[in-house]
Amino acid sequence: MLFSITCDGPGAEDLGYLLHKHPDRVRSQSVANGVAHVFYPEATSARTTAALLVEIDPVQLSRRTRGHSGPATLEPYVNDRPYVASSMLSVAIGKLFGTALSGTCETKPELVDKALDLEIHVPVVGTAGDASLITSFFAPLGWDVGCEVLPLDTSFDGWGDGPYASVSLRGSQKVKDALAHLFVLLPALDGRKHYWIDEDEVEKLLRRGGDWLAAHPERELISRRYLRFRSLAEDALAQLSVGAVDTATSDQRADSGEASLERPLSLNEQRMDSVVHAIQSLSGGAVVDLGCGEGRLLRRLVAEPSVTKILGVDVSMQALRRADERLHRDDLSERRRESLTLQQGALTYTDDRLQGFDIATAIEVIEHLDEERLDVFGHVVFAEAAPQAVVVTTPNREYNVHFERLPVGTLRHNDHRFEWTRLEFTSWAEEICSAYGYSVKFSGIGPDDEMTGPPTQMAIFTRGSSQ
Ligand code: SAH
Repeated sequence: MLFSITCDGPGAEDLGYLLHKHPDRVRSQSVANGVAHVFYPEATSARTTAALLVEIDPVQLSRRTRGHSGPATLEPYVNDRPYVASSMLSVAIGKLFGTALSGTCETKPELVDKALDLEIHVPVVGTAGDASLITSFFAPLGWDVGCEVLPLDTSFDGWGDGPYASVSLRGSQKVKDALAHLFVLLPALDGRKHYWIDEDEVEKLLRRGGDWLAAHPERELISRRYLRFRSLAEDALAQLSVGAVDTATSDQRADSGEASLERPLSLNEQRMDSVVHAIQSLSGGAVVDLGCGEGRLLRRLVAEPSVTKILGVDVSMQALRRADERLHRDDLSERRRESLTLQQGALTYTDDRLQGFDIATAIEVIEHLDEERLDVFGHVVFAEAAPQAVVVTTPNREYNVHFERLPVGTLRHNDHRFEWTRLEFTSWAEEICSAYGYSVKFSGIGPDDEMTGPPTQMAIFTRGSSQ
Protein backbone atom coordinates (compact mmCIF):
# COMPACT_ATOMS: atom_id res chain seq x y z
CA MET A 1 0.00 0.00 0.00
CA LEU A 2 1.17 3.46 -0.81
CA PHE A 3 0.60 7.13 -0.38
CA SER A 4 2.53 10.14 -1.59
CA ILE A 5 2.60 13.69 -0.35
CA THR A 6 3.75 16.50 -2.61
CA CYS A 7 4.62 20.06 -1.73
CA ASP A 8 4.46 22.60 -4.55
CA GLY A 9 5.94 26.05 -4.82
CA PRO A 10 8.97 27.85 -3.47
CA GLY A 11 10.49 26.16 -0.45
CA ALA A 12 9.04 22.77 -1.43
CA GLU A 13 12.15 21.09 -0.05
CA ASP A 14 10.93 22.06 3.43
CA LEU A 15 8.83 18.91 3.25
CA GLY A 16 11.99 16.88 3.93
CA TYR A 17 12.65 18.81 7.15
CA LEU A 18 9.06 18.47 8.29
CA LEU A 19 8.93 14.75 7.60
CA HIS A 20 12.30 14.27 9.25
CA LYS A 21 13.50 12.19 6.33
CA HIS A 22 16.35 13.19 4.02
CA PRO A 23 15.30 13.42 0.34
CA ASP A 24 18.54 11.75 -0.85
CA ARG A 25 18.02 8.56 1.11
CA VAL A 26 15.60 5.68 1.11
CA ARG A 27 14.61 4.82 4.65
CA SER A 28 13.23 1.34 5.37
CA GLN A 29 11.85 0.09 8.63
CA SER A 30 10.06 -3.07 9.64
CA VAL A 31 6.46 -2.66 10.71
CA ALA A 32 3.98 -5.27 11.91
CA ASN A 33 3.53 -7.77 9.05
CA GLY A 34 5.96 -6.15 6.63
CA VAL A 35 8.38 -3.40 5.75
CA ALA A 36 7.77 0.31 5.19
CA HIS A 37 9.93 2.49 2.95
CA VAL A 38 10.07 6.26 2.67
CA PHE A 39 11.58 7.69 -0.50
CA TYR A 40 11.36 10.82 -2.61
CA PRO A 41 10.42 10.32 -6.28
CA GLU A 42 11.21 14.02 -6.82
CA ALA A 43 12.93 16.61 -4.66
CA THR A 44 13.55 20.10 -6.00
CA SER A 45 13.01 23.50 -4.42
CA ALA A 46 9.92 23.88 -6.66
CA ARG A 47 8.29 20.50 -6.07
CA THR A 48 9.05 17.73 -3.62
CA THR A 49 7.21 14.42 -3.27
CA ALA A 50 7.69 11.93 -0.46
CA ALA A 51 6.21 8.45 -0.76
CA LEU A 52 5.45 5.93 1.97
CA LEU A 53 5.26 2.39 0.65
CA VAL A 54 4.23 -0.41 2.99
CA GLU A 55 4.89 -3.92 1.77
CA ILE A 56 2.69 -6.45 3.54
CA ASP A 57 3.46 -10.08 2.81
CA PRO A 58 0.29 -12.20 3.01
CA VAL A 59 2.23 -15.42 2.40
CA GLN A 60 4.52 -14.68 5.32
CA LEU A 61 1.43 -14.01 7.42
CA SER A 62 -0.04 -17.32 6.48
CA ARG A 63 3.19 -19.22 7.23
CA ARG A 64 3.17 -17.82 10.73
CA THR A 65 -0.06 -19.63 11.44
CA ARG A 66 0.49 -22.58 13.72
CA GLY A 67 -1.98 -25.12 14.90
CA HIS A 68 -4.40 -24.28 12.15
CA SER A 69 -6.57 -27.23 11.36
CA GLY A 70 -9.57 -25.52 9.77
CA PRO A 71 -10.40 -25.85 6.09
CA ALA A 72 -7.59 -24.67 3.78
CA THR A 73 -8.51 -21.58 1.76
CA LEU A 74 -6.59 -19.21 -0.47
CA GLU A 75 -7.76 -16.24 1.57
CA PRO A 76 -4.49 -15.85 3.55
CA TYR A 77 -2.56 -15.72 0.27
CA VAL A 78 -4.86 -13.71 -1.96
CA ASN A 79 -6.52 -10.75 -0.29
CA ASP A 80 -6.62 -6.97 -0.51
CA ARG A 81 -4.60 -6.26 2.64
CA PRO A 82 -1.29 -5.55 0.84
CA TYR A 83 -2.92 -2.91 -1.37
CA VAL A 84 -5.72 -1.06 0.33
CA ALA A 85 -4.87 1.86 2.63
CA SER A 86 -5.78 0.55 6.08
CA SER A 87 -4.90 0.81 9.74
CA MET A 88 -1.56 -0.79 8.80
CA LEU A 89 -0.77 2.36 6.81
CA SER A 90 -1.69 4.48 9.84
CA VAL A 91 0.67 2.40 11.97
CA ALA A 92 3.44 3.01 9.39
CA ILE A 93 2.65 6.76 9.35
CA GLY A 94 2.95 6.76 13.15
CA LYS A 95 6.23 4.87 13.00
CA LEU A 96 8.00 6.62 10.11
CA PHE A 97 6.42 10.09 10.34
CA GLY A 98 5.76 10.11 14.09
CA THR A 99 7.80 13.28 14.67
CA ALA A 100 5.94 15.15 11.93
CA LEU A 101 2.60 13.83 13.15
CA SER A 102 3.25 15.14 16.64
CA GLY A 103 4.19 18.57 15.21
CA THR A 104 7.88 18.55 16.07
CA CYS A 105 10.62 19.93 13.82
CA GLU A 106 13.82 20.72 15.66
CA THR A 107 15.72 22.11 12.66
CA LYS A 108 13.01 24.48 11.46
CA PRO A 109 10.33 24.74 14.17
CA GLU A 110 8.67 27.69 12.41
CA LEU A 111 7.55 25.31 9.62
CA VAL A 112 5.31 23.23 11.85
CA ASP A 113 2.41 25.65 11.86
CA LYS A 114 2.86 26.84 8.30
CA ALA A 115 0.22 25.81 5.75
CA LEU A 116 1.85 24.48 2.58
CA ASP A 117 0.36 23.75 -0.84
CA LEU A 118 0.01 20.00 -0.54
CA GLU A 119 -1.18 17.26 -2.82
CA ILE A 120 -1.73 13.76 -1.49
CA HIS A 121 -2.31 10.69 -3.58
CA VAL A 122 -3.55 7.39 -2.19
CA PRO A 123 -3.98 4.92 -5.06
CA VAL A 124 -6.23 2.39 -3.27
CA VAL A 125 -8.75 3.51 -0.67
CA GLY A 126 -11.67 1.37 0.52
CA THR A 127 -15.09 2.82 -0.29
CA ALA A 128 -17.30 0.29 1.52
CA GLY A 129 -19.57 0.58 -1.52
CA ASP A 130 -20.12 4.32 -1.08
CA ALA A 131 -17.39 6.44 -2.68
CA SER A 132 -19.15 9.65 -1.62
CA LEU A 133 -17.89 8.94 1.91
CA ILE A 134 -14.40 9.86 0.75
CA THR A 135 -15.50 13.36 -0.17
CA SER A 136 -17.67 13.80 2.89
CA PHE A 137 -14.77 12.76 5.12
CA PHE A 138 -12.01 14.89 3.54
CA ALA A 139 -13.77 17.92 2.00
CA PRO A 140 -14.92 19.51 5.33
CA LEU A 141 -11.27 19.58 6.37
CA GLY A 142 -10.39 21.91 3.49
CA TRP A 143 -9.28 19.35 0.94
CA ASP A 144 -10.21 19.54 -2.70
CA VAL A 145 -11.05 15.86 -3.23
CA GLY A 146 -10.48 13.92 -6.46
CA CYS A 147 -11.89 10.41 -6.38
CA GLU A 148 -11.81 7.85 -9.17
CA VAL A 149 -13.62 4.61 -8.40
CA LEU A 150 -11.58 1.67 -9.68
CA PRO A 151 -13.31 -0.93 -11.88
CA LEU A 152 -13.65 -4.41 -10.44
CA ASP A 153 -11.72 -5.84 -13.37
CA THR A 154 -10.39 -3.79 -16.29
CA SER A 155 -10.89 -6.78 -18.64
CA PHE A 156 -14.63 -6.98 -17.92
CA ASP A 157 -16.39 -3.63 -18.29
CA GLY A 158 -19.76 -5.14 -17.44
CA TRP A 159 -18.64 -6.08 -13.94
CA GLY A 160 -18.80 -2.42 -12.93
CA ASP A 161 -17.08 -0.68 -10.04
CA GLY A 162 -15.01 -2.37 -7.37
CA PRO A 163 -14.98 -1.38 -3.69
CA TYR A 164 -11.87 0.81 -4.03
CA ALA A 165 -11.05 4.28 -5.31
CA SER A 166 -7.93 6.17 -6.24
CA VAL A 167 -7.95 9.39 -4.24
CA SER A 168 -6.15 12.72 -4.62
CA LEU A 169 -6.39 15.53 -2.13
CA ARG A 170 -5.26 19.10 -2.73
CA GLY A 171 -5.20 21.88 -0.20
CA SER A 172 -3.28 24.42 1.78
CA GLN A 173 -2.59 22.47 4.95
CA LYS A 174 -0.10 22.00 7.73
CA VAL A 175 1.82 18.75 7.22
CA LYS A 176 1.00 17.55 10.75
CA ASP A 177 -2.72 18.03 10.07
CA ALA A 178 -2.55 16.32 6.69
CA LEU A 179 -0.91 13.27 8.29
CA ALA A 180 -3.46 13.24 11.12
CA HIS A 181 -6.32 13.34 8.60
CA LEU A 182 -4.91 10.30 6.82
CA PHE A 183 -4.11 8.55 10.10
CA VAL A 184 -7.75 8.67 11.21
CA LEU A 185 -9.74 8.72 7.98
CA LEU A 186 -8.04 5.95 5.97
CA PRO A 187 -8.81 3.21 8.55
CA ALA A 188 -12.31 4.68 8.99
CA LEU A 189 -12.88 4.29 5.24
CA ASP A 190 -11.35 0.82 5.16
CA GLY A 191 -13.59 -0.25 8.04
CA ARG A 192 -11.33 -3.16 9.01
CA LYS A 193 -8.69 -3.01 11.68
CA HIS A 194 -5.90 -5.50 12.05
CA TYR A 195 -5.85 -5.27 15.80
CA TRP A 196 -8.02 -5.08 18.87
CA ILE A 197 -9.83 -1.86 19.50
CA ASP A 198 -9.87 -0.98 23.16
CA GLU A 199 -9.88 2.15 25.30
CA ASP A 200 -6.40 3.02 24.02
CA GLU A 201 -7.90 3.46 20.58
CA VAL A 202 -10.36 6.05 21.84
CA GLU A 203 -7.43 7.90 23.29
CA LYS A 204 -5.49 7.61 20.00
CA LEU A 205 -8.46 8.91 18.04
CA LEU A 206 -8.84 11.86 20.38
CA ARG A 207 -5.11 12.58 20.20
CA ARG A 208 -4.97 12.53 16.40
CA GLY A 209 -8.41 13.92 15.74
CA GLY A 210 -9.00 16.10 18.78
CA ASP A 211 -8.46 19.43 17.06
CA TRP A 212 -10.55 18.92 13.97
CA LEU A 213 -12.76 15.91 14.55
CA ALA A 214 -14.97 17.71 17.07
CA ALA A 215 -16.08 20.19 14.40
CA HIS A 216 -16.37 17.64 11.58
CA PRO A 217 -19.96 17.16 10.31
CA GLU A 218 -19.30 13.42 9.94
CA ARG A 219 -17.64 13.02 13.36
CA GLU A 220 -20.13 10.38 14.49
CA LEU A 221 -19.72 8.21 11.44
CA ILE A 222 -15.94 8.63 11.47
CA SER A 223 -15.66 7.72 15.16
CA ARG A 224 -18.01 4.81 14.72
CA ARG A 225 -16.18 3.42 11.72
CA TYR A 226 -12.78 4.04 13.26
CA LEU A 227 -13.64 2.47 16.58
CA ARG A 228 -16.05 -0.13 15.28
CA PHE A 229 -17.67 -0.59 18.65
CA ARG A 230 -20.53 1.74 19.42
CA SER A 231 -19.85 2.11 23.14
CA LEU A 232 -16.29 3.24 22.47
CA ALA A 233 -17.44 5.63 19.74
CA GLU A 234 -19.92 7.14 22.16
CA ASP A 235 -17.20 7.54 24.74
CA ALA A 236 -15.04 9.34 22.17
CA LEU A 237 -17.88 11.60 21.09
CA ALA A 238 -18.69 12.47 24.68
CA GLN A 239 -15.09 13.44 25.27
CA LEU A 240 -14.96 15.45 22.06
CA SER A 241 -18.04 17.39 23.00
CA VAL A 242 -16.59 18.46 26.34
CA GLY A 243 -13.28 19.18 24.67
CA ALA A 244 -11.38 16.95 27.05
CA VAL A 245 -8.50 15.74 24.95
CA ASP A 246 -6.26 13.60 27.04
CA THR A 247 -2.77 13.71 25.59
CA ALA A 248 -1.17 11.20 27.93
CA THR A 249 -0.26 8.12 25.93
CA SER A 250 -0.47 4.57 27.04
CA ASP A 251 0.40 2.95 23.73
CA GLN A 252 3.97 2.56 24.91
CA ARG A 253 2.92 -0.25 27.19
CA ALA A 254 5.67 -2.63 28.10
CA ASP A 255 5.43 -5.58 25.80
CA SER A 256 6.39 -9.26 25.74
CA GLY A 257 4.35 -12.16 26.94
CA GLU A 258 0.79 -13.27 26.90
CA ALA A 259 -0.08 -11.59 30.20
CA SER A 260 0.91 -8.17 28.94
CA LEU A 261 -0.87 -8.71 25.62
CA GLU A 262 -4.04 -9.36 27.48
CA ARG A 263 -3.47 -6.84 30.26
CA PRO A 264 -5.90 -4.14 29.13
CA LEU A 265 -8.68 -6.63 29.64
CA SER A 266 -7.25 -8.00 32.93
CA LEU A 267 -8.31 -11.25 31.41
CA ASN A 268 -6.45 -13.28 34.04
CA GLU A 269 -8.58 -11.83 36.78
CA GLN A 270 -11.77 -12.40 34.83
CA ARG A 271 -10.67 -15.96 34.16
CA MET A 272 -9.99 -16.70 37.82
CA ASP A 273 -13.34 -15.13 38.80
CA SER A 274 -15.16 -17.32 36.29
CA VAL A 275 -13.40 -20.49 37.41
CA VAL A 276 -14.02 -19.80 41.10
CA HIS A 277 -17.63 -19.06 40.28
CA ALA A 278 -17.90 -22.36 38.40
CA ILE A 279 -16.38 -24.21 41.38
CA GLN A 280 -18.88 -22.55 43.72
CA SER A 281 -21.80 -23.51 41.53
CA LEU A 282 -20.48 -27.10 41.51
CA SER A 283 -20.59 -26.90 45.35
CA GLY A 284 -16.79 -27.02 45.79
CA GLY A 285 -15.28 -30.01 47.58
CA ALA A 286 -11.84 -31.48 46.82
CA VAL A 287 -10.18 -29.70 43.88
CA VAL A 288 -7.12 -30.69 41.85
CA ASP A 289 -5.62 -27.91 39.73
CA LEU A 290 -3.89 -29.58 36.78
CA GLY A 291 -1.01 -27.48 35.40
CA CYS A 292 -1.34 -25.10 38.35
CA GLY A 293 1.65 -23.02 37.23
CA GLU A 294 2.60 -20.36 39.74
CA GLY A 295 -0.57 -20.93 41.70
CA ARG A 296 -2.83 -18.17 40.46
CA LEU A 297 -5.95 -20.26 40.95
CA LEU A 298 -4.60 -21.96 44.08
CA ARG A 299 -4.33 -18.55 45.76
CA ARG A 300 -8.00 -18.01 45.10
CA LEU A 301 -8.95 -21.53 46.18
CA VAL A 302 -7.33 -21.27 49.61
CA ALA A 303 -9.71 -18.38 50.29
CA GLU A 304 -12.76 -20.26 49.05
CA PRO A 305 -14.72 -21.82 51.95
CA SER A 306 -16.57 -24.35 49.74
CA VAL A 307 -13.23 -25.93 48.77
CA THR A 308 -12.19 -28.57 51.30
CA LYS A 309 -8.99 -29.99 49.82
CA ILE A 310 -6.56 -28.64 47.22
CA LEU A 311 -3.87 -30.30 45.12
CA GLY A 312 -1.76 -28.33 42.65
CA VAL A 313 0.06 -30.39 40.00
CA ASP A 314 2.54 -29.11 37.46
CA VAL A 315 5.36 -30.55 35.41
CA SER A 316 7.58 -27.57 36.18
CA MET A 317 9.43 -27.59 39.52
CA GLN A 318 10.22 -23.93 39.07
CA ALA A 319 6.53 -23.05 38.71
CA LEU A 320 5.74 -25.13 41.80
CA ARG A 321 8.43 -23.36 43.84
CA ARG A 322 6.95 -20.00 42.84
CA ALA A 323 3.46 -21.24 43.68
CA ASP A 324 4.73 -22.34 47.08
CA GLU A 325 6.28 -18.90 47.75
CA ARG A 326 3.21 -17.03 46.64
CA LEU A 327 0.80 -19.09 48.69
CA HIS A 328 2.37 -17.78 51.93
CA ARG A 329 1.47 -20.96 53.78
CA ASP A 330 2.56 -19.48 57.09
CA ASP A 331 -0.30 -17.04 56.91
CA LEU A 332 -2.89 -19.76 56.34
CA SER A 333 -4.90 -21.40 59.06
CA GLU A 334 -3.52 -24.77 60.14
CA ARG A 335 -6.53 -26.51 58.65
CA ARG A 336 -6.06 -24.84 55.30
CA ARG A 337 -2.31 -25.52 55.36
CA GLU A 338 -2.95 -29.19 55.87
CA SER A 339 -5.54 -29.36 53.11
CA LEU A 340 -3.13 -27.93 50.51
CA THR A 341 -0.55 -29.97 48.61
CA LEU A 342 1.72 -29.23 45.64
CA GLN A 343 3.13 -32.07 43.58
CA GLN A 344 5.17 -32.46 40.47
CA GLY A 345 3.51 -34.55 37.80
CA ALA A 346 2.89 -34.78 34.09
CA LEU A 347 -0.67 -34.84 32.83
CA THR A 348 0.21 -37.13 29.99
CA TYR A 349 1.03 -40.08 32.26
CA THR A 350 -1.23 -42.17 34.47
CA ASP A 351 -1.08 -40.83 38.01
CA ASP A 352 -3.00 -42.38 40.95
CA ARG A 353 -2.56 -39.22 42.99
CA LEU A 354 -5.12 -37.47 40.78
CA GLN A 355 -7.93 -39.77 41.96
CA GLY A 356 -10.50 -39.00 44.62
CA PHE A 357 -11.23 -35.35 43.75
CA ASP A 358 -14.63 -33.78 43.17
CA ILE A 359 -13.40 -31.22 40.65
CA ALA A 360 -10.37 -30.99 38.36
CA THR A 361 -9.38 -27.70 36.72
CA ALA A 362 -7.06 -27.24 33.72
CA ILE A 363 -6.78 -23.49 33.26
CA GLU A 364 -4.93 -22.43 30.12
CA VAL A 365 -3.10 -25.78 30.08
CA ILE A 366 -4.30 -27.94 27.16
CA GLU A 367 -2.79 -25.57 24.58
CA HIS A 368 0.63 -26.30 26.14
CA LEU A 369 0.30 -30.02 25.34
CA ASP A 370 1.17 -31.49 21.98
CA GLU A 371 -2.05 -32.02 20.09
CA GLU A 372 -1.23 -35.70 19.58
CA ARG A 373 -0.88 -36.15 23.39
CA LEU A 374 -4.36 -34.79 24.07
CA ASP A 375 -5.87 -38.27 23.83
CA VAL A 376 -3.66 -39.40 26.70
CA PHE A 377 -4.56 -36.26 28.68
CA GLY A 378 -8.24 -37.07 28.08
CA HIS A 379 -7.76 -40.62 29.33
CA VAL A 380 -5.72 -39.59 32.39
CA VAL A 381 -8.20 -36.92 33.47
CA PHE A 382 -11.60 -38.24 32.42
CA ALA A 383 -11.11 -42.02 32.64
CA GLU A 384 -8.58 -42.46 35.46
CA ALA A 385 -8.85 -39.41 37.72
CA ALA A 386 -12.56 -39.25 36.78
CA PRO A 387 -13.71 -36.43 39.06
CA GLN A 388 -17.33 -35.38 39.25
CA ALA A 389 -16.56 -32.23 37.22
CA VAL A 390 -13.74 -30.85 35.09
CA VAL A 391 -13.28 -27.17 34.25
CA VAL A 392 -11.12 -26.45 31.20
CA THR A 393 -10.21 -23.04 29.78
CA THR A 394 -8.22 -22.31 26.65
CA PRO A 395 -7.71 -19.32 24.30
CA ASN A 396 -10.19 -18.73 21.52
CA ARG A 397 -7.95 -18.28 18.48
CA GLU A 398 -10.61 -16.36 16.57
CA TYR A 399 -10.19 -13.51 19.04
CA ASN A 400 -6.47 -13.02 18.29
CA VAL A 401 -7.17 -10.50 15.52
CA HIS A 402 -8.03 -8.02 18.27
CA PHE A 403 -4.62 -8.01 19.90
CA GLU A 404 -2.79 -4.98 18.53
CA ARG A 405 0.71 -6.28 19.11
CA LEU A 406 0.08 -9.85 18.03
CA PRO A 407 1.07 -10.29 14.38
CA VAL A 408 -1.74 -11.82 12.36
CA GLY A 409 -1.69 -15.61 12.40
CA THR A 410 0.59 -16.02 15.42
CA LEU A 411 -0.29 -17.52 18.77
CA ARG A 412 -0.47 -15.68 22.09
CA HIS A 413 2.43 -17.47 23.73
CA ASN A 414 5.61 -19.12 22.43
CA ASP A 415 4.86 -22.32 24.29
CA HIS A 416 1.34 -22.72 22.91
CA ARG A 417 1.24 -25.76 20.63
CA PHE A 418 -2.12 -24.73 19.22
CA GLU A 419 -4.98 -22.36 19.84
CA TRP A 420 -8.45 -23.49 18.96
CA THR A 421 -11.41 -21.79 17.39
CA ARG A 422 -14.70 -22.19 19.23
CA LEU A 423 -15.68 -24.96 16.84
CA GLU A 424 -12.43 -26.88 17.38
CA PHE A 425 -12.81 -26.66 21.17
CA THR A 426 -16.43 -27.74 21.00
CA SER A 427 -15.70 -30.77 18.89
CA TRP A 428 -12.82 -31.88 21.15
CA ALA A 429 -15.06 -31.49 24.21
CA GLU A 430 -17.90 -33.40 22.61
CA GLU A 431 -15.60 -36.28 21.75
CA ILE A 432 -14.45 -36.36 25.37
CA CYS A 433 -18.07 -36.53 26.51
CA SER A 434 -18.98 -39.42 24.29
CA ALA A 435 -15.76 -41.32 25.08
CA TYR A 436 -15.90 -40.96 28.87
CA GLY A 437 -19.56 -40.36 29.72
CA TYR A 438 -19.51 -36.66 30.61
CA SER A 439 -21.76 -33.82 29.56
CA VAL A 440 -20.46 -30.32 28.86
CA LYS A 441 -21.51 -26.68 28.98
CA PHE A 442 -19.58 -23.89 27.29
CA SER A 443 -19.17 -20.26 28.19
CA GLY A 444 -16.91 -17.36 27.31
CA ILE A 445 -14.61 -15.25 29.45
CA GLY A 446 -13.83 -11.62 28.56
CA PRO A 447 -15.59 -9.28 26.12
CA ASP A 448 -17.79 -11.23 23.73
CA ASP A 449 -17.13 -9.83 20.27
CA GLU A 450 -19.96 -10.36 17.82
CA MET A 451 -17.68 -11.77 15.12
CA THR A 452 -14.90 -13.56 16.98
CA GLY A 453 -16.44 -14.45 20.33
CA PRO A 454 -14.59 -13.90 23.62
CA PRO A 455 -10.81 -14.15 24.23
CA THR A 456 -11.09 -17.22 26.49
CA GLN A 457 -13.40 -20.20 26.16
CA MET A 458 -14.43 -22.37 29.10
CA ALA A 459 -15.96 -25.84 29.22
CA ILE A 460 -17.50 -27.30 32.36
CA PHE A 461 -17.76 -31.08 32.13
CA THR A 462 -19.90 -33.03 34.57
CA ARG A 463 -19.90 -36.79 34.91
CA GLY A 464 -23.00 -38.47 33.55
CA SER A 465 -24.89 -37.88 30.34
CA SER A 466 -26.58 -34.54 29.67
CA GLN A 467 -29.12 -33.30 32.18
N1 SAH B 1 -3.06 -22.85 35.22
C1 SAH B 1 -2.05 -21.83 35.38
C2 SAH B 1 -0.84 -21.99 34.48
C3 SAH B 1 -1.12 -22.00 33.01
S1 SAH B 1 0.38 -22.10 32.06
C4 SAH B 1 -2.67 -20.47 35.25
O1 SAH B 1 -3.79 -20.34 34.75
O2 SAH B 1 -2.03 -19.50 35.62
C5 SAH B 1 0.43 -23.81 31.67
C6 SAH B 1 1.05 -24.65 32.77
O3 SAH B 1 0.94 -26.01 32.34
C7 SAH B 1 2.52 -24.40 33.00
O4 SAH B 1 2.73 -24.14 34.36
C8 SAH B 1 3.20 -25.67 32.54
O5 SAH B 1 4.34 -25.98 33.32
C9 SAH B 1 2.11 -26.70 32.74
N2 SAH B 1 2.26 -27.88 31.89
C10 SAH B 1 2.56 -27.93 30.58
N3 SAH B 1 2.59 -29.19 30.14
C11 SAH B 1 2.32 -29.98 31.22
C12 SAH B 1 2.22 -31.38 31.43
N4 SAH B 1 2.41 -32.24 30.42
N5 SAH B 1 1.91 -31.82 32.65
C13 SAH B 1 1.71 -30.95 33.68
N6 SAH B 1 1.80 -29.62 33.54
C14 SAH B 1 2.09 -29.13 32.33
